[in-house]
Amino acid sequence: MMDLQRRIPVKEVHGVGAQKAEELNSMGIFTVAELLEYVPFRYEDYTLRDLAGVKDGDRITIQGTILGEPVLQRYGGKSRLSCKVMAEPFLITAVWFNRPFLKDKLQVQQEILLTGKWDGRRMQLTVSDSEFPGPGAVKTGTVQPVYSVAGSITQKWLRKVIKQALTQYGAMIHELLPEALIHKYGLMSRGKALSIIHLPGDVAEGQKARRRMVYEELFLFQLKLQAYRALTRSRADGLAQRVDLPAVREFVRSLPFRLTESQKKVIAEILHDMQEPYCMNRLLQGDVGSGKTVVAAVALYAAVKAGNQGSLMVPTEILAEQHKRSLDKLFEPYGVQVALLTGSSTDRQRRDILASLQMGLIDLIVGTHALIQEDVYFRQLGLVVTDEQHRFGVNQRSILRRKGMNPDVLTMTATPIPRTLAITAFGDMDVSTLREMPKGRKPVQTFWVRHSMLERVLGFIRKEVDGGGQAYVICPLIEESEKLDVQNAIDVHIQLQQHFPQMRVGLLHGRMTAQEKDAVMQGFKEGSVETLVSTTVIEVGVDVPNASLMVVYDADRFGLSQLHQLRGRVGRGEQQSFCVLIADPKTEVGKERMKAMVETTDGFEIARRDLELRGPGDFFGTKQSGLPDFRIADMMVDFETMEEARDDAAELVADPAFWTGAGFGALRQYLQREQVFDSDVLD
Ligand code: ADP
Ligand code: MG
Repeated sequence: MMDLQRRIPVKEVHGVGAQKAEELNSMGIFTVAELLEYVPFRYEDYTLRDLAGVKDGDRITIQGTILGEPVLQRYGGKSRLSCKVMAEPFLITAVWFNRPFLKDKLQVQQEILLTGKWDGRRMQLTVSDSEFPGPGAVKTGTVQPVYSVAGSITQKWLRKVIKQALTQYGAMIHELLPEALIHKYGLMSRGKALSIIHLPGDVAEGQKARRRMVYEELFLFQLKLQAYRALTRSRADGLAQRVDLPAVREFVRSLPFRLTESQKKVIAEILHDMQEPYCMNRLLQGDVGSGKTVVAAVALYAAVKAGNQGSLMVPTEILAEQHKRSLDKLFEPYGVQVALLTGSSTDRQRRDILASLQMGLIDLIVGTHALIQEDVYFRQLGLVVTDEQHRFGVNQRSILRRKGMNPDVLTMTATPIPRTLAITAFGDMDVSTLREMPKGRKPVQTFWVRHSMLERVLGFIRKEVDGGGQAYVICPLIEESEKLDVQNAIDVHIQLQQHFPQMRVGLLHGRMTAQEKDAVMQGFKEGSVETLVSTTVIEVGVDVPNASLMVVYDADRFGLSQLHQLRGRVGRGEQQSFCVLIADPKTEVGKERMKAMVETTDGFEIARRDLELRGPGDFFGTKQSGLPDFRIADMMVDFETMEEARDDAAELVADPAFWTGAGFGALRQYLQREQVFDSDVLD
């Protein structure tokens, strides 16, 4: 039944013609079900109120009697119409702005219904809606839903059409949630909720219906993640990689440092998954500098020693090149073949690499995006390491599965994430966390200075460089304009060169060719470039342990997490490192950010404050939100419901009855429709 309803096109509703149907389509409404699930974002309350109990500034509807002649004043192109109204127990003034034509309709002794904003001091109501009692008074006494509308679709029309849809199809709305959960939270039935949410008797009832739909939306979302997770674990269609533990131990012993306890624990979790016959789907979470890359390298080495291939996908070419070099260095004594494939590889290089991959001549491939494209074939892909921006979704997995590959997947994130966001963005994964920093690290000392102190900042740069350190200078960020970012970097570069004629100052920005970038980065790594002026292309993962100073211009333009990432570029060696934020923030939020940076170096604490200051939508940055767009729920308000929904969903998929028992058919169909599993899994 549920499905039948889903597939009924919206033009089947009386009153929806071909053209209107098309406009509804462009609002994302194709079926009757989608129309009914198009819920209002707020209500307008036209229920009659008693003026005696009303607060100043409230929007209210009252009934009264016109007692005085209306007065019309005109000024400029505008007008103000007012008249005295007796609204027991008060005599008030009703005011209409810019509706002069109403003057002739207002007659003394006439009853009138007025909606507007109440000003108790002046005893005045600024009217937004008015009507006369009788059959024509359609709004008064009701609560009207307010939808987000577009094109020629008006509130009035949409209200009418949804009402009509409820009449035609309301009886076909079937329950979707398990009985036990409805009972647990005292939820309305689905049919009742979808009817009341559009036509509530009062606002509180509408809110209750909304709560039911919010829970449903979040529960279905979590069910998808939890079912995916459970299925991945239960299906033995991955590689049970034969990890050669003695070889891995030897490799670890050859590292130039001892692993932290945290790193050891996380590596054990990863190797365990790799040895099991299911596909690993694990998130490695750790603050900047906590040593994630080494963990990835150990896992990749284990995959290669097990006779498989590995791939490492990173967000930028600079990073790809950097990783290629460090993997080469680590693996060289062990004869592991590492290749690099990026957007700037020539066609010929690309062809050669793809052929070698397919023949198994290459053990590890490092690259930017699209390493797992349709035309890339591996002999035997065992492990994919990727970052949160290139998360392995169901789609990528199915591309690989079609090619007969089911590798283990490790996703890394350097943004510590508060729990609610973590279970939302990464709820389908198992999580490993690096809680500990390598020994000997000194927290980066952070200062916030005004632009007027630039001279002193320049002195600081000189002092660090003279003392054998190196400095990053990050240039102002212009939202949405890479071109201006580049110009900023070029300007600052010229300035610094003039100020420090003896110093070797390098420049890095997104408009340079890969070779140019690579040469500068290499120079900075080797120390021949002492100060590096850069746009934020530097942001993620770059590793130069000798860098001891990070200067950020216009730091208040950056988000907290981004500043934390930038600061993570220093403090990677033994020496004390510093971060100088230059900013004259004009907003409170900007000042709070600077204070937070000065006060703490703990990534989780920064993440918590960032979430507070920005809200979850912006948390991951605009480019890669990682968060789904909920149609009804609001993450800022409904986060507790999200946590409940997640626990409920996890409990449900752990119950064998869910997969086979009667009563869960609609939910299983939903999962199938969402392609959580292939059709062959269920009958
Ligand atoms: P992340 O990727 O988590 O930001 P990296 O893996 O780049 O951090 O590690 C940061 C720096 O710390 C690198 O120079 C790395 O070689 C070094 N490092 C990693 N693990 C350890 C450790 N256990 N002891 C000392 N240094 C380490
Ligand atoms: Mg496995």
